Amino acid sequence: MPAEFVKALPILEKIRVSGYQAYFVGGSVRDVLLNRQIHDVDIATSAYPAEVKQIFEHTVDIGIEHGTVLVLAGDDTYEITTFRTEDVYVDYRRPSHVSFVRELSEDLLRRDFTINAFALANDGEIIDLYDGLTDLDKKILRAVGHPSERFNEDALRIMRGVRFMATLNFSLESETYEAMKRQAHLLAKISIERIFIELDKLLQADYWQKGFDALLAIDASAYLPGFSDKKALLSLLTLPKRFKFTNSVQAWGFLLHQLGYVDGKFLMKKWKVSREFATAITHFLSAYRKRQVAAFSLEDLYQHHLSSLLLVENLFEAQGLDTDFEHIAVLDKTLQIRDKKEIVVSAGEIMKQFSISPGPGIGKLFHEIEMAIVIGKLRNHPDDIFNYVRESSEYGSND
Ligand code: ATP
Ligand code: MG
Repeated sequence: MPAEFVKALPILEKIRVSGYQAYFVGGSVRDVLLNRQIHDVDIATSAYPAEVKQIFEHTVDIGIEHGTVLVLAGDDTYEITTFRTEDVYVDYRRPSHVSFVRELSEDLLRRDFTINAFALANDGEIIDLYDGLTDLDKKILRAVGHPSERFNEDALRIMRGVRFMATLNFSLESETYEAMKRQAHLLAKISIERIFIELDKLLQADYWQKGFDALLAIDASAYLPGFSDKKALLSLLTLPKRFKFTNSVQAWGFLLHQLGYVDGKFLMKKWKVSREFATAITHFLSAYRKRQVAAFSLEDLYQHHLSSLLLVENLFEAQGLDTDFEHIAVLDKTLQIRDKKEIVVSAGEIMKQFSISPGPGIGKLFHEIEMAIVIGKLRNHPDDIFNYVRESSEYGSND
């Protein structure tokens, strides 16, 4: 048993001595069996939420209607979820009602894939009701129960399926695959934020091309904003098989570029991502296009920031194109300012010194100064900046 579980054993024990069952469940059990790093230890119990709260001193209600109580133990927190069934599904989404049950087997039945439906007991015994161990061994994703029904109940499972292919390098069992393909259209009913999370995890994964190919094969892309009708373009990814994206911006930026988007803002809005993320994508796309025609300049570095330039250059490298990281490093050393705020003289000081009244003139002049500093024509020093204004024809006479 890995350290994370051993550490959590007293939690299981505490529930058990109170007369209830408790098991480790979900992705962490799967990941331990696969020798993968685990990130969250989920515990399932026959105790009802109110009972869990009686057992532990420090708890937080984080999803009590779904049966989840957060238990605080020292520096650690554990999500403890009551065994439950999700009986009625409305709109192919979340169940309209969850019922708490006392049977582990009922809880495991509601889980999406056999490899996600293990329970691990305190003595190390693995409860495997759906032959998940065989699937794990064969590296297969198989829906628990009847695949069509399961994707009908919750179509997000389709995205989870392709995501797990990408993270685990697993393949789809054929009936599961057929059902995903048949029911991909139900993704139209799922909230775009939840789809984004899954697709983003897919793209960050080691085997993202495998997951992405499956996404295209089951035609799920047809139901994703900006991806419909673009299957042909999406199939033509020019990256080597084992290429791994550095981060989300690079992954989404590259996809959008591949799809022909010049400015991703409008599309990213449909995906309901944060404004910061959308802005980063826009910078990436501009930088990518510029880099296709020329080497980066000081202006590019200033406008799009070092991070975008490096993400683009890294993709060029991956595609076997000429790259020049040294040139970017030189630009980075040369650039005098990263932001307008770093200009040592303010617009107000210039106005005062040269008796310039407010208006568009000063804005234009200050922008000129900013860009002259960026391209290295002007030193970011008060003497040089005042001289520059003095020498510019319009304000020179004021001196
Ligand atoms: P990750 O490694 O991303 O955490 P995970 O499998 O642990 O993957 P979670 O979203 O943390 O995924 O969910 C924990 C467990 O809850 C899953 O392993 C699965 O058993 C169950 N589960 C989660 N989402 C669904 C779903 N949409 N349908 C059925 N079962 C689900
Ligand atoms: Mg998890």
